[in-house]
Amino acid sequence: GGMTSTTERRVLLAKPRGYCAGVDRAVQTVEVALEKYGAPIYVRKQIVHNVHVVRTLEEQGAIFVDETEEVPEGAIVVFSAHGVAPVVHEEAAGLSLRTIDATCPLVTKVHKEAVRFAEQDYDILLIGHEGHEEVIGTTGEAPDHIHLVDGPGDVANVQVRDPDKVAWLSQTTLSVSETIATVEKLRERFPNLLDPPSDDICYATQNRQVAVKEMAAQAQFVIVVGSRNSSNSVRLVEVAKEHGADDARLVDYADQIDPAWLEGVTTVGVTSGASVPDELVQDVLAWLRDRGFGTVEEVEPVQEHVRFSLPKELRRDLRAPL
Ligand code: SF4
Repeated sequence: GGMTSTTERRVLLAKPRGYCAGVDRAVQTVEVALEKYGAPIYVRKQIVHNVHVVRTLEEQGAIFVDETEEVPEGAIVVFSAHGVAPVVHEEAAGLSLRTIDATCPLVTKVHKEAVRFAEQDYDILLIGHEGHEEVIGTTGEAPDHIHLVDGPGDVANVQVRDPDKVAWLSQTTLSVSETIATVEKLRERFPNLLDPPSDDICYATQNRQVAVKEMAAQAQFVIVVGSRNSSNSVRLVEVAKEHGADDARLVDYADQIDPAWLEGVTTVGVTSGASVPDELVQDVLAWLRDRGFGTVEEVEPVQEHVRFSLPKELRRDLRAPL
């Protein structure tokens, strides 16, 4: 429930929202590669989980494939922000592909933590969503040591070799509160559970959740711009509902908003997932403006200033002539 004291309909706009540093870098990687080498540039999996971004890059000459073997021998392939298992690098080398790795540095960090725990022969409990690309990539670093734990309800199913030699890691885009709940349950079963050296849930996921929480407390309805397969976007819908919004919905585009959602709503909150270009949010604001939501106030509980440089193999080629 939110505030209904003003008669004027208003929008609360969360900040930070939208592009994180890892997504910005991955999208730029494909754009710069297209410019530098020319089309086509192959991209393994969706570069980031957003329909609009993928379509736009396709129009510029990117070709998205599901598996490395679909890329013609010797071609250039970009690996997506979610990361890949080491076996994928081997497959690419086998096909003599030129690879550009756009894995987010914060995902790479989790891969390294997995390798280190595995070298010390820990059973690693990876908290994450089954089938998500990031989870598949991280698991591939140490398939014999990693067990997936898909939320608190999955804790009872975990089987380990030695209950005193267990560590946990997580996917970067989870709900902070649900992950804490999962870790508490794990610790009940494994009191000597070892923590990761630092937070695996990335700064961008955390900041977007902090902002949506503060916004949802004052809004009756929250619109999250993002795609269904975007983990962090789906979490924003959940967090909004848990923290005061009567309801919240995910849309890829403004035209997917159902006017019936906003009947009786005077304050609507808007945010977007880490893979969403801000032009899509601006379209939503225009849609709302046309329906009487005239004022927009930003809710910015945290400021963000993170940037990552382009993958080193691309930077090297940008310095040297082809
Ligand atoms: Fe990197 Fe976090 Fe963005 Fe994922 S959501 S690409 S981990 S910064």
